[in-house]
Amino acid sequence: MKYLRIALATLATLTFSGVTAPAASADTQSVRAERTCPAEGTISQRWGVNGHRGLDIRNSAGTMIVAARNGTVTYSSNSTTALGYHIIVRHSDGSRTLYAHLRLRYAAVGDTVYTNQLIGEMGSTGNATASHLHFEVIIGSTQVNPQDHYPCR
Ligand SMILES: [Zn+2]
Repeated sequence: MKYLRIALATLATLTFSGVTAPAASADTQSVRAERTCPAEGTISQRWGVNGHRGLDIRNSAGTMIVAARNGTVTYSSNSTTALGYHIIVRHSDGSRTLYAHLRLRYAAVGDTVYTNQLIGEMGSTGNATASHLHFEVIIGSTQVNPQDHYPCR
């Protein structure tokens, strides 16, 4: 069945260039329901613009930052790098989410965190001119577009 689906998708792409993505399967939808956007606010810079490797969400300092998906915290530090205070969460499929420029962190390395759990507060630590969340999604060692994987609109 898997081969058939791939073959059909390829055929559709070849036959109708510019075809829209097929509707998400029920499986995909249930997985996505376990994910959330980690902060409320205005998207101020999208992934891929001028080499930007994350998604920026702007809001006032102190805005709640929540885990976008269940996982285990693998990094949490008041780092003085460009990312500032930041947290990295590793998920069951090996992908990671990264939350940068935090004002405060509420999760430590080794913590299990759940979707929508408060893990920090928005800030402007590191290389940031205004309070915002820099949100990255990392698969393997590559950042991918967070909006392809998490419901940030
Ligand atoms: Zn950014």
